[in-house]
Amino acid sequence: TFISFEGVDGAGKTTQVGLLADWWRARGREVVVTREPGGTALGTRLRALLLGADADVPIDARAEALLFAADRAQHAAEVIVPALERGAVVITDRYIDSSLAYQAGGRELTADEIRNLSVWAVQDLWPVRTYLLDLDPRIAAARMDGGPDRMEREGLVFQERTRAAFLALAEREPARFLTLDATLPAAGLFRAICEDSANLVG
Ligand code: C5P
Ligand code: MG
Repeated sequence: TFISFEGVDGAGKTTQVGLLADWWRARGREVVVTREPGGTALGTRLRALLLGADADVPIDARAEALLFAADRAQHAAEVIVPALERGAVVITDRYIDSSLAYQAGGRELTADEIRNLSVWAVQDLWPVRTYLLDLDPRIAAARMDGGPDRMEREGLVFQERTRAAFLALAEREPARFLTLDATLPAAGLFRAICEDSANLVG
């Protein structure tokens, strides 16, 4: 069972990933919790590059898209596919939709270009469910104080575009997405998520 969480920085993905992992474990399932970028040893290096640990290294939009795709290719091959083959539940904090929202929605590249690149990178491996924690980036920013990198560098307009891109993706694939109002208290959100998860097969 392959599940992803998506949403802008500060929407509460990491919290819900942890809660859902515990919930599946309590039901006797092996759970693998992972994230992008940075779910593998290679990914950790790429994450440092991408998130500006080397702020003096310029990265063009296409190069950035390829580096995220490289992270994802390694992530799928090394972590996700083997875990799914063992029958584990895999819960990832971000996946392809983040690239569609950030590398396409937020930038000059088209969604089709990013989709083709990502599909190639992961050999068309998609989650059965994607929980989109939808949040106004202004609220997210207030929540994060002192938080992520990206928010400060890209600003509110970029985050607004990203949010809109996530919502458009969810509308395009209503069978895969469950969109949730991330202003709800964490406990209420979690209740909705585990009710839904109980109906996921495989
Ligand atoms: O979710 P997490 O904090 O790990 O994401 C790290 C940063 O990378 C975030 O600021 C997010 O905006 C950015 N990101 C991105 N494109 C992706 C995935 C994450 O720009 N495909
Ligand atoms: Mg997070």
